[in-house]
Amino acid sequence: MSDRRLRFKDGDFQLRCEYCREYWPLTVEFWKPKHGTRRCKGCWAEYARHWQARFQQEPGVRTVTRFKNAMYYQANRERLRAHNRAWKARNRTTM
Ligand SMILES: [Zn+2]
Repeated sequence: MSDRRLRFKDGDFQLRCEYCREYWPLTVEFWKPKHGTRRCKGCWAEYARHWQARFQQEPGVRTVTRFKNAMYYQANRERLRAHNRAWKARNRTTM
């Protein structure tokens, strides 16, 4: 067995995913060009599910995150409001 990441088989160039160790054809059906060539699309979906599960299903994590964000907002309230005002002034559109 060879250990190459790229191979030519069945008339297609195939690249091996470093996470599931499977060879997939080099098309956008199996890879996300924006995210590089280390994980296939399926492994990226699994990664997203993992993080979504962590942040959406665990109330404790969600509560702590909300609390941290609230503390950050309280500590930086004036700076954030000034930043938002400046952004709105820059991006104001007239109807
Ligand atoms: Zn994969």
